[in-house]
Amino acid sequence: MARTRFGPRRKPGLRPKPPKPKGDADDQKPAESAKEIADRLKGNAAVGKNAADYRRKSLDIHGWICAKCGMEFNENNLHLLTVHHRDGNHKNNPTNGSNWENLCVHCHDDEHSRGMLGDYLGDGR
Ligand SMILES: [Zn+2]
Ligand SMILES: [Zn+2]
Repeated sequence: MARTRFGPRRKPGLRPKPPKPKGDADDQKPAESAKEIADRLKGNAAVGKNAADYRRKSLDIHGWICAKCGMEFNENNLHLLTVHHRDGNHKNNPTNGSNWENLCVHCHDDEHSRGMLGDYLGDGR
């Protein structure tokens, strides 16, 4: 009776997805759903930079209106509506919009001039 044990084949486990699967014969591709792909393409199509990506989302969530002065915007002046990060961290972009506030450029300026002047326009447009 051979107690041959086929060693448990460890799966790679939580291995981060390789950026580009090279053409190997591996069938275990993590199935990226069509929806995910579509979302990604949509997000990147226009700008390819998530700076503008979150802006669009924030406008979607909070509406085309300044949260401070209540000025409403339309397609003609929408570029004057900017997205403020409540915690000041531009990398903190929860998709539910909890860190975003839509502010017109004036209110946004005002908001920032209280403290240090941020780089809020640096990557926002
Ligand atoms: Zn305003
Ligand atoms: Zn801001």
